[in-house]
Amino acid sequence: MRYAQIKSGLKLHLVYELPTGGVTQPICGKGTNGYRMTINVPLANACKNCLRIINSKSFDANKFLQSYFNHKR
Ligand SMILES: [Zn+2]
Repeated sequence: MRYAQIKSGLKLHLVYELPTGGVTQPICGKGTNGYRMTINVPLANACKNCLRIINSKSFDANKFLQSYFNHKR
């Protein structure tokens, strides 16, 4: 998992690294065409929606990645 920032000064969304390189869309569902940067550590405030999702017991990283690939097809 990585933190990704869409624009300077904005919150960091949580994303997953793809086996193909690059990262997924934010797990909160916000769409973006790309990120300004991705980092391993939260240097700024993380997106509350992403945090709520990742902290929920029903969140399954594999399912998230699977639905991501299904969308891409
Ligand atoms: Zn988010």
